[in-house]
Amino acid sequence: MPLLKLDSVVAGYGHITAIKGISLEVVEGDIVALIGSNGAGKSTTLNTISGLIRPRSGTIVFDGADLARVPPHKIVGEGISQVPEGRGILNRLTVFENLEMGAYRRGARADLTEELDLVFTLFPRLKERLKQAGGSLSGGEQQMLAIGRGLMAKPRLMLLDEPSMGLSPILTETIFQTIVDINRQGTTILLVEQNAQLALAIANHASVIESGEIVLRGTAAELREDPQVRRSYLGEG
Ligand code: ATP
Repeated sequence: MPLLKLDSVVAGYGHITAIKGISLEVVEGDIVALIGSNGAGKSTTLNTISGLIRPRSGTIVFDGADLARVPPHKIVGEGISQVPEGRGILNRLTVFENLEMGAYRRGARADLTEELDLVFTLFPRLKERLKQAGGSLSGGEQQMLAIGRGLMAKPRLMLLDEPSMGLSPILTETIFQTIVDINRQGTTILLVEQNAQLALAIANHASVIESGEIVLRGTAAELREDPQVRRSYLGEG
């Protein structure tokens, strides 16, 4: 049984239907990439999983339970953490307070030492800046903080929306290496990326979304070899 299964999910905004029957499976332990161009429906898919948007039809099952029955504020508690596009850092709060909020959203206010240790191991730079305001961090540091905050909820599944956005190639490489590390430590990843090259380099499986529909799916290796993917998303040919 997959950890996450979307079946024919339709969702949108007002009269706009942004995703038109998406079916997707994420197996525990995998890194799954959802690639597609601007406006294809990638963020909408993640927002529908995390409960920010309610599906108009279709089902989303996480760990055997239908998420439609779970109120949005409880979805984090179920084990799904979203790292939103644009990062969603609270600018006026310190790095430490931003991290604390990540755990708070999980509900439990227990000892945070273990989670903080993990975040500091992955991102030593955050430890040096604990008292600094979130808004004063560089773009790369903000992305580290957003991922760190997501980890504080001890998720089983992490939803990452465009982690490469606005980052230099070197920082992007660091962030992607960290995503692999997080996955190796046991967190399943669903990654949305416009940068297909990067996403397919670290993913096990991937789907291509166009105009709200999945048009291609397979192992990352299969998609890397697919002529359409190479032409449209890898800038070849
Ligand atoms: P990008 O990489 O540019 O963020 P995306 O693949 O994540 O693109 P979505 O953000 O999911 O795409 O958008 C899918 C469609 O839904 C687009 O046509 C977009 O204009 C529309 N859309 C997204 N958010 C809203 C909103 N709040 N209100 C109305 N339409 C929206």
